[in-house]
Amino acid sequence: MALLALALMASGAGVMLLIAHAGVADARAVLWWAVLSVGGLAAMAALVRLGATQRLADPSLSIPQMAWTITSGAVAYVLAGEARGIVPAVLAMILFFGTFGLSLAQMLGVGLYALVAFALAVTGTARFDGSRYGTLDAAYAAMVAIVLLGCLALNLRIQQIRARLQEQRQELSRALALNRELATRDELTGLLNRRHMLELMQLEQRRADRSGRNLVLALLDIDHFKHINDTHGHAVGDRALQAFAATVRASVRNTDVLARWGGEEFVLMLSDTRTDDAADLLERVRCAVATQALHDGGASVCFTVSIGLASYARGEALEQTLERADRALYTAKDSGRDRVVVATLHSPARSLAA
Ligand code: GH3
Ligand code: MG
Ligand code: MG
Repeated sequence: MALLALALMASGAGVMLLIAHAGVADARAVLWWAVLSVGGLAAMAALVRLGATQRLADPSLSIPQMAWTITSGAVAYVLAGEARGIVPAVLAMILFFGTFGLSLAQMLGVGLYALVAFALAVTGTARFDGSRYGTLDAAYAAMVAIVLLGCLALNLRIQQIRARLQEQRQELSRALALNRELATRDELTGLLNRRHMLELMQLEQRRADRSGRNLVLALLDIDHFKHINDTHGHAVGDRALQAFAATVRASVRNTDVLARWGGEEFVLMLSDTRTDDAADLLERVRCAVATQALHDGGASVCFTVSIGLASYARGEALEQTLERADRALYTAKDSGRDRVVVATLHSPARSLAA
């Protein structure tokens, strides 16, 4: 914008020099005026480009630039003689610049300054030239006032559009954040969803392949969950799922990752954990779930969980690890539920606790 203003000012100076060349204006005075006007604006543009104004409240120097251009325009009005009719058009353009960048109060201030500067220029010229241009000068001054009012109205409209755009941008970024959240999280429990968990497991698998550290995957399935829904209703079922998620999360380290795998089935990923330690931890999880109670009016709702766990064997597909964990879970269900079963690579799954 500063460079554009400078280019416009240089063109305006060119036109003024042409007017001087036509013999309407004093050539020496116009030359001085042109050097000062363009030079002042160029100095301000240079300061902005060099970053010297960054600490100021108005780093683009838009108000000083406008004040400078308005002053230069008022002086041009006095100098231009019979050709002064072109100056209000230039002033209109200067004020128009302000409608985009300035606040309404700043715009009012700049507009008032423009009115005063031009009133001075008009009276100065009238005294200078007598009554020859008196009526025309009044018409020009009226034109300046009309342009100013028009620019104020435009400025108001632009402020409204800006406010609405800002609002829409905020709404959009809120929707985007929610979208991102929904893409990776399960809405009911706040846990990671299956899709995001699969990505994390693949990442962890590559880490385990590189480091040789043990990686444990556990499948946790609430026992007789259908019965909770049937007896207490779906809403209590939902609360039970939330309570379960909170209990498990509170029992594991915050580096262990818990996800809702689907329905009342969950996956827990324990990286850099020995299988025996994982089994102990999951036994504690099983106990914590079995001892928690949910309240449904006067009745308390208790439930248990069956857990199957398997350690990742280097080089195998994650599906294979999960399949072994699933078979261990099946064994846990089959042998009475409310227990942890550890899958071993080749021998049948081993039951830990009853
Ligand atoms: P098991 O001990 O063999 O696991 O029996 P179960 O009843 O837990 O297993 P089943 O697969 O027969 O039933 C799972 C139930 O979980 C059925 C389904 O309606 C319920 N369910 C799945 N997702 C939700 C949910 O988001 N909210 C509620 N309230 N119930 C759910
Ligand atoms: Mg179940
Ligand atoms: Mg199930």
